[in-house]
Amino acid sequence: MHTSTTRMPAVEPTALHPRWCSLDACTAYSLTDADVDARYHRSRPLVVETEDPFVVLYAHLLAPVDGSGVEVEISELERPFTRPWYDLEPVRGRQLVMPLERAESLRHVLASLVRAGRG
Ligand SMILES: [Zn+2]
Repeated sequence: MHTSTTRMPAVEPTALHPRWCSLDACTAYSLTDADVDARYHRSRPLVVETEDPFVVLYAHLLAPVDGSGVEVEISELERPFTRPWYDLEPVRGRQLVMPLERAESLRHVLASLVRAGRG
């Protein structure tokens, strides 16, 4: 008797991640239950140095496993890093997390302030 098996096409691993996701920082598919609240896709961080060599600003995108509700997170982090950057507690709780629309507004506000400040 002839049997045939229908194979599913191989899933491209990156198709399970938003295009901006950096697999180095992605915990969306962490396997341990302890990490269930920390399952996020994350982009590679954009880093802003400060006047303090031990303090740095990290800005990145993050989204839950289903990729919806993309947010921007900006954290003030202290060097040297003892854990992966996305797992660090921000310095004195200094962290902003906002949806893309608010980040867009903030971007315009910052640009206006910088322009005005340079007078
Ligand atoms: Zn991801």
